[in-house]
Amino acid sequence: MNLVVMKFGGTSVEDPAAIQRTAAIVAGRVASGKNPVVVVSAMAKVTDQLLRAADAASRGDRTGALAISSRLRARHRDTASALVKSPTEIAALLQFIDERFDSLDEVLRGLAAILELTPRISDLIVSYGERISSRIVAAAFCELGIDATPVDSREIVITDSQFQKAVPLDDIIEKRAAEKLLPLIVAGKVPVMGGFIASNEVGIPTTLGRGGSDYTGALIGGALSAKTIEIWTDVDGIMTTDPRICPDALRVKVISFEEAAELAYFGAKVLHPATILPAVQKNIPVLVLNSRNAACEGTRIISLAPHCKSPFKCIAVKKKLSIIDVVANRMLMSHGYLSQIFAIFDKHKCPVDMVSTSEVSVSLTVDSHASLPSIAADLSTLADVKYEGKKALVCMVGEDIRGQQGIAAQVFNAIRHINVRMISQGASEINMSFLIEEEDAEEAVRSLHAAFFQNPDPSIFDVEARKPASS
Ligand code: ADP
Ligand code: ASP
Ligand code: MG
Repeated sequence: MNLVVMKFGGTSVEDPAAIQRTAAIVAGRVASGKNPVVVVSAMAKVTDQLLRAADAASRGDRTGALAISSRLRARHRDTASALVKSPTEIAALLQFIDERFDSLDEVLRGLAAILELTPRISDLIVSYGERISSRIVAAAFCELGIDATPVDSREIVITDSQFQKAVPLDDIIEKRAAEKLLPLIVAGKVPVMGGFIASNEVGIPTTLGRGGSDYTGALIGGALSAKTIEIWTDVDGIMTTDPRICPDALRVKVISFEEAAELAYFGAKVLHPATILPAVQKNIPVLVLNSRNAACEGTRIISLAPHCKSPFKCIAVKKKLSIIDVVANRMLMSHGYLSQIFAIFDKHKCPVDMVSTSEVSVSLTVDSHASLPSIAADLSTLADVKYEGKKALVCMVGEDIRGQQGIAAQVFNAIRHINVRMISQGASEINMSFLIEEEDAEEAVRSLHAAFFQNPDPSIFDVEARKPASS
């Protein structure tokens, strides 16, 4: 078998035209003798809108919540009707859509009465996005000649019960994938599943965190030991930086697992941070591809990237961070202090991105987090604490910064006009990160990009795509 997991993001299933493009890409893989398993996101922006409906309902705005749901129902019905023409199929599909929206409306009405939105209810509400999109995409594929079967991800991707950021239970997923997906694949069918959504061991819906469909793709790829995992999105692959910030960003042709993981973790939205792990464990190459430009070869993520003449491959930026400064003279010459500080972050389940310490102070960066005031209150029992939001972390990633002399000087020279709050070079030696004000982030990225990607190594970067500078 030549198994390939193909994950399509929200923009690849956003409307009938996008779903048709996606179908053509999958049909191409089938025609070339591959066995695809397809993982799809909710249609573009649907998860955000479901969250808005949940928020409205939890504030008692029942009418507002139901209005959002009603617009979503119409969008899904219209998409289905534009794609599926067979009278029995479209009737069954529209009935499926209506039944799901009827039950979503019931949940929203209940929420508007209870006025308390728990992570568990939030996961239930957003789960409708992928449950419905995967059913529509499967029906559209059948209409377009692909032998597709919808599969409910909640029966395969089993997680713990940490709603909104559930942790997958790999052994169970492997077993379920073998039981429920393999027989379909062997029979020549193309399973179509929703990404992002899962369920705990007793069947309550959970999710893998925002952007988590990539992770579903990788989990399924890992569970089935696929030959390749393909992440189809709306850009040509992993780019030297976010093309929305820097239009002359270049496609990176090949990147290592380690570099890609670092990039994803430090804010490059193109990949969910956990995606790489299942692929690394089984050494499965991951490809990032553009569903609007399927002819482009995209980015290949592999275990060992070839040597690159440029020190950096990418610049990522992560916004909405806060810096926490902890200052205590008691720290001087004492031991165990850091562990007490970290125990507090642990208690609040708050991950720390970057740490820098001196003899009497520790500075940490965290995602701006609702529990920041309570974390600060707990820390103030140990030391003086200050925290400030609206910070951005810029992270320069590349295997080839290891041992390069003068690289820090070049980085800080490129952004000499910008005030830097914190600096770190990770132990992995493949990233250099620094914290700046959020309002300076885009300018910093553009200055760094201009400084480091002027003469990029053509074996790693797609220099042919670079437009000639206008004179
Ligand atoms: P999908 O819905 O397909 O999962 P996402 O919106 O989650 O797509 O991710 C794709 C987006 O990630 C791109 O449109 C781009 O703006 C953004 N992005 C951020 N950093 C990068 C990068 N280094 N390379 C490519 N895209 C990036
Ligand atoms: N639909 C989910 C989100 O928007 C998951 C994903 O698209 O990856 O976060
Ligand atoms: Mg995404």
